[in-house]
Amino acid sequence: MPSPIEILRKFYGYSSFRPGQEEIINNVIGGRDTLVLMPTGGGKSICYQIPALVLPGTAIVISPLIALMNDQVQALRANGVPAFAVHSNQNEADNSTALSLAAQGKLKILYISPERFMMDMERLAAAVNVSLIAIDEAHCISQWGHDFRPVYKELIAAKEKFNNVPVMALTATADRLTRKDISDSLGLSDPFCWIGSFDRPNISLQVINDPGKKKRLSYIANLIEDHPLDSGIVYCLSRKKTEDMHKSLLDMGYRSVCYHAGMLPAEREKAQRAFVNGEAQVVCATIAFGMGIDKSNIRWVVHNNIPGNIESYYQEIGRAGRDGMPAKAILFYNFGDIITRRSFVEESGQKDVNREKLEFMQRYAEASVCRRRILLSYFSEESICDCGNCDNCRSPRETFDGTILAQKALSAVIRINCAEGINTVIDILRGLNNSTIIQKRYHQVKTYGVGRDLSSRQWHSYILQMIQLGLLEVAYEDNFHLRPTPYGMRVVRGQERIELNTFRDTEFFTSGKRKAPAASKPVYATREEELMALLKETRREVALSEKIPAYVVFSDATLADMVEKRPVDIETFAKVNGVGQLKLAKYSKKFIGVIRKFEGKSKSLPAGSSVKETWILFESGMSPEEIAAVKEVQKTTVLSHLAELTDKGKITDFSRIISEKDIAMVEEAIREDAATAYKSLREKGVDPGIIRMGQAVVKYRYGIG
Ligand code: ADP
Ligand code: ZN
Repeated sequence: MPSPIEILRKFYGYSSFRPGQEEIINNVIGGRDTLVLMPTGGGKSICYQIPALVLPGTAIVISPLIALMNDQVQALRANGVPAFAVHSNQNEADNSTALSLAAQGKLKILYISPERFMMDMERLAAAVNVSLIAIDEAHCISQWGHDFRPVYKELIAAKEKFNNVPVMALTATADRLTRKDISDSLGLSDPFCWIGSFDRPNISLQVINDPGKKKRLSYIANLIEDHPLDSGIVYCLSRKKTEDMHKSLLDMGYRSVCYHAGMLPAEREKAQRAFVNGEAQVVCATIAFGMGIDKSNIRWVVHNNIPGNIESYYQEIGRAGRDGMPAKAILFYNFGDIITRRSFVEESGQKDVNREKLEFMQRYAEASVCRRRILLSYFSEESICDCGNCDNCRSPRETFDGTILAQKALSAVIRINCAEGINTVIDILRGLNNSTIIQKRYHQVKTYGVGRDLSSRQWHSYILQMIQLGLLEVAYEDNFHLRPTPYGMRVVRGQERIELNTFRDTEFFTSGKRKAPAASKPVYATREEELMALLKETRREVALSEKIPAYVVFSDATLADMVEKRPVDIETFAKVNGVGQLKLAKYSKKFIGVIRKFEGKSKSLPAGSSVKETWILFESGMSPEEIAAVKEVQKTTVLSHLAELTDKGKITDFSRIISEKDIAMVEEAIREDAATAYKSLREKGVDPGIIRMGQAVVKYRYGIG
């Protein structure tokens, strides 16, 4: 059996495991049930894929996400692993081919939807040598989760039917109730549990108090411009908001697509494809988007509206930066969204749970301490220091004595008999003349206009803080009107003083004046950036010609490692993280060519490179036939390379190259007459490659020839 680390190097081109992966893999290979909790991007796939490659037979991976299945199959094949998917979105002929290939033992991994698994379970049990069963997105089994799927409940049958096969449950959902539910509901027996860290330190966190529509747009435009070759997601609350955002971005000249539940399936698929293959720079989506997206080079995620709970939020921002490279998560926070969400909650099935979840989300948005610590504490993970990669860490708040300011707001609320919500209260404080004010005669209230010196955004921020501090409360049952608490009353009477955080306006770049991306010629700040752009362009060309997504060719992390290592020959290229044997064979020439040109070297590799390439592929475990196939040359040529390598003493084990019978035949001819051996064997119809190889072996062993 090959070892897990050998497989990791050979097929994936990675040099080491991430925390947990090796333990998980060894437990599964040892036949133990396993529960894996890791955040999105943590590297769960490898945890079942490597046991699948090590163990004899076919691994069955149950996944609810068809798009993700197809993606994974594509990525596996790009690494040289035989995989197939079975689901209802594919014609029955293909499904049937997949099942019969599995039965013949020709697949290492079979992805299947839960519905199809239940349908085909008997057949699979009878015909396929199943090595392991992995249940992806295992949180779908829990009613406590945010993504319950009834069919998952039936999967307990898997453990009963395949009782000698290890079952793995994998999920990125971390809340405690769900965890326990998963293990119980699947009937796992004494499972090995791995609870990975949910920290995603490469994602920077930022919350911006709603700066208004125009500035939001210019902020998003800047994100797009700062990452012209990458992509991002803007999550919006409703279909309409999604479409509005999409149209605005199109108007500004950006390549945007739209994605929401109101679109036809075909339209949605088209949008998703455009995003995945990089045609679109940005997708404006409702939460329905992204479940099936394995795109590793999403560099930023904007939440245009606050999500209803931390789980969803974390999963959505987790779609950025899966490759471990820096990524940004930005949340635009508007108190009005809390009110909208609050009304959803009141209509929902599990009011109490959902209300609490929303309140936690709100606390996150309004926090003035390290945001990552808030997130991690939500997932019961201890974090003992500030992260340094969130807005609060980067610029800690300053405070001031806010007593007078609070008194102004509180007395405005009291004088209008607690009859208004936050926006009207702010209008009164700022002395506006709109119709509500005039109709209700608020301009005659004594506090009218006492807060003219502050902007509406400043007032928003301060009133929110007053709510957080417990001076004011929002009457959710009474149209969200503001009312003072007993603590607030003491502040109005001057019995208590309070501190507020100084309002901080977020920096925005100048808006609107930027040119549409296509029109401007890129200027690179550094040589590294320039090379990265060239490599991305090359990757895009390869992806287009092979009809696969760019990140399946190479991830951003792999390209970044190329920028770092600057491989100008095959040996160095093989050392780049993410370059496995198949990708080495298929893509090295092209990428090395680009790097050589960039470095001012002749584009073609020095003489002898092809032999070296054969050697590296041979060393990585490929057979001469496989090498010939990936290099697109005749097997004879590969054999002559291997003969040359034998002459140089680089190869001493010939069992994978030539049979002892063939060696004996060549030896006999040489012993008869070394000078005419080649000719006489050719006349007998022996392949010239075999003759060359046989001669090299005979020379190596007996010193003759
Ligand atoms: P998950 O399924 O947990 O969301 P993936 O399995 O898709 O995450 O992995 C995320 C990314 O990390 C992928 O690009 C994957 O190739 C990469 N990755 C996983 N394990 C390693 C490793 N040991 N070394 C380097 N990259 C890895
Ligand atoms: Zn922080």
